Amino acid sequence: MDLNIVLLGPPGSGKGTQTERLAAEFGFTKISTGDLLREAVRNGTDLGTKAKGYMDAGKLVPDALVIGLIKEKLKGSKGGVILDGFPRSLEQAKALDEVLKVGLAVDLKVDQEALIKRLTERRSCRKCNAVYHLEFNPPRKEGVCDKCGGELYQRSDDTEKVVRERFATYTERTAPLTEFYRRKGVLRSVDGMGSIDDVYKRIVAAIKAA
Ligand code: AMP
Repeated sequence: MDLNIVLLGPPGSGKGTQTERLAAEFGFTKISTGDLLREAVRNGTDLGTKAKGYMDAGKLVPDALVIGLIKEKLKGSKGGVILDGFPRSLEQAKALDEVLKVGLAVDLKVDQEALIKRLTERRSCRKCNAVYHLEFNPPRKEGVCDKCGGELYQRSDDTEKVVRERFATYTERTAPLTEFYRRKGVLRSVDGMGSIDDVYKRIVAAIKAA
């Protein structure tokens, strides 16, 4: 499918989980700036060294760094793209506009207390970045990724203190993007509460209507 999609929604609203599934089932190229930045931190690259402090504090990594990263990734991509965690500021949305035609912006609507539970009980795979939830989507074997056998860990920014900071960052910098995409006529609000399957079906319906 040639549609290009951005997934908006606060931290923990299910962007990563849904992106993974949409990419697998529709053949979209998945690009997650959070995953790319964490990989850069793990590999100790120049980008990783610059990004780490912001990430640990729940702040946005400076636009210039992230925009450079995404442009590099988009160069090699073919077919429809699904972006998880980008854009996160108006500057990023404008930069994206110059290089990619976004046909659908999905805004996942969720309530904040539910998000805190989702995030603090989230576990991620060190190897393939798959995400689990201790209660709602547990791995078959504790601490081990179903998909690749990698080790599951809690992201350092999934603690309650940093989660609250990430929400504040979202409200200030990212929430205004819904207006940007509404004006372009591509925004669809999707109820992000309920099971992973329910939310997935709602997103698929939005894709079919796009
Ligand atoms: P995520 O995995 O999408 O929750 O991202 C984790 C962290 O990476 C965020 O809290 C930011 O510090 C950083 N990050 C990810 N995507 C972006 C972006 N588009 N712009 C700035 N910082 C980002």
